Amino acid sequence: MPIRDILRLGHPALRTPASSVGDTDLQSDEIQILVDDMLETMRSAGGVGLAAPQIGVSLQLFVYLAVDVDRPREDAEEKVLINPAVEPEAGEPVYDWEGCLSIPDLRGLVPRPQAVRVHALDREGSKLEFRATDYEARIIQHEFDHLNGIVFVDRMRDLRSLAFSAEWERYMTEGDEPPVESEAAAEAG
Ligand SMILES: [Zn+2]
Repeated sequence: MPIRDILRLGHPALRTPASSVGDTDLQSDEIQILVDDMLETMRSAGGVGLAAPQIGVSLQLFVYLAVDVDRPREDAEEKVLINPAVEPEAGEPVYDWEGCLSIPDLRGLVPRPQAVRVHALDREGSKLEFRATDYEARIIQHEFDHLNGIVFVDRMRDLRSLAFSAEWERYMTEGDEPPVESEAAAEAG
């Protein structure tokens, strides 16, 4: 399964809203190969999520790892969401650190709703409906934003928390969870 190139901020594909995946396309080999390649690319880059526009495919599709902070990341379930709708639940936004495979080496504090309801299709075209909270909800919102040409920096309220990962680790972490789409060891973060 080939690993695809991840586009970096500045590439217009990252600012272009993606088209929905058609019913007939959903069962095609092309989409199945794309999903496999995206999972492989995400894992190889050390990320916990990857959206199709990040590899230059303008489709409403993203993959992510349903990471549980209490379990090793290798055990996290791989999820594929196609044509997703993401509705935030009401409540105070929660701030946490995010990074992005398309904005390598930078971290920032991003407010997000703590819980979301998700409607989507899985890779077989079956309907999914579920509620996600906390870290999983953050990953989903980050990836969903990519389908609309939005990146995490756009969501920051205060750009003064923007930091390179080495400085972030040195000065800004106090036992926090690893930021979305990155891990300390993965420079591609
Ligand atoms: Zn991202």
